[in-house]
Amino acid sequence: MEVSPISQPTVISRSEHTISRANISPNAVKVLYRLREAGFRGCLVGGGVRDLLLGREPKDFDVATDARPEQVYKLFRNCRLIGRRFRLAHVQFDREIVEVATFRGRGGESEDGEGPSVERTVSGRILSDNVYGGIEEDAWRRDFTVNALYYDIDRFVVLDYVGGLADLKAGLIRLIGDPAQRYQEDPVRLLRAVRFAAKLGFQIDPATAAPLHRLGHLLEQIPSARLFDEVLKLFLNGSAIQTFELLRHYRLFGCLFPATERCLNHQQAHYPKTLLTRALANTDNRLAEDKPVNPAFLFAALLWEPLRERMRELQAKGLDETEALQIAADGVIQEQLRHTALPRRHSLPMREIWEMQQRLTVVSGKRPLRLLGHPRFRAAYDFLLLRAEADDEARALADWWTGFLALDDAGRLQATQPATGAKKGKPRRRRKLRSARKGAPDRTLHPET
Ligand code: ATP
Ligand code: MG
Repeated sequence: MEVSPISQPTVISRSEHTISRANISPNAVKVLYRLREAGFRGCLVGGGVRDLLLGREPKDFDVATDARPEQVYKLFRNCRLIGRRFRLAHVQFDREIVEVATFRGRGGESEDGEGPSVERTVSGRILSDNVYGGIEEDAWRRDFTVNALYYDIDRFVVLDYVGGLADLKAGLIRLIGDPAQRYQEDPVRLLRAVRFAAKLGFQIDPATAAPLHRLGHLLEQIPSARLFDEVLKLFLNGSAIQTFELLRHYRLFGCLFPATERCLNHQQAHYPKTLLTRALANTDNRLAEDKPVNPAFLFAALLWEPLRERMRELQAKGLDETEALQIAADGVIQEQLRHTALPRRHSLPMREIWEMQQRLTVVSGKRPLRLLGHPRFRAAYDFLLLRAEADDEARALADWWTGFLALDDAGRLQATQPATGAKKGKPRRRRKLRSARKGAPDRTLHPET
């Protein structure tokens, strides 16, 4: 990295900015004061300062200090040290974690050549950075200018070493330093650029945006678990639609979800985009209403079209729908795992949401009532509603279920009685949505029959 200019910061006094202690989480304030009492310096930094200056509610509060991680650890009972690449202290309060990072230094070789240095790969990716320094150096090692503003609890001032305030006012996401080099150092910054632009409604500065299109391949170097976390941050931040559009624009989406990208690129493929964008819009709406969102549902939507495509191929080879689904799901999950992790606690319910799409097609007999008690019923029904937006067959089925759910118990029982004419003792034919089954047309709920 180029030598960081050590400069005097622009100091924004208490009367000139809008941050007050009342807007900072009491836990973060506690951490800042505890550090100060112990003789250390403590500043709020990152998203907390950025969002407060924008009048937004910060997602979390990050603290930067000159105390070493071990010193932070000793100060707080509720503290854990995490991270090898980048050692941090997490101070845990009930549900809130305050992240405390020690100021990073310039990270060249230490003077005697023996101390810690920043470990890099041949491509320049930083493997570990535990070289400590002063606040000025720390500012230059952060990613974007708007993320490098410090709120100093000592004097209630905001400190700007890198022009972050001007960019905040102009609505610009700008990498600090040479963009290509900063992406090489940590390719996750490619995704972070897009995430902040989408979330804040900012433009990406042209020099910061220029390498985005061509550097997506660097993400292959990133451990899949970190990419999984990043995917959740990208799509569960309340601006999933804008994030998705920007990721596609910069050819980054395909680096995370290559199979989905292939489907999106097929001609006349309006449907996958519709299902996916509706799922993302739903996610945004739910978050806006403070409702919980489910990563399994998100991944079920993200990987739905690749699943359908594989199923079609397998069915064309003669497999039945259930077999095709199982094999296709295995294949799609295996392929996705080469790009992002997908922990089993999410992939299992995702599969169930998919499997339930088949089970939901049975609309007579005891099964519909039984399905209502399935732990994944609600998610599967919501997923069916999404499919219904773009697919007539799914619409007819979704309408049936919506009607069914609106009935009382007696009504539900009646709605699932075998079709008239079926006599006791005779084997019952299950009513299915589709008439596509081979042989004579069954009684079906397809709109055309
Ligand atoms: P969010 O609202 O998502 O929490 P944030 O800006 O606070 O946004 P964090 O991931 O919480 O982002 O990181 C806190 C701060 O640490 C960032 O604002 C930035 O200054 C610094 N940072 C985080 N990740 C990186 C990175 N990959 N490279 C350089 N600096 C980083
Ligand atoms: Mg943060």
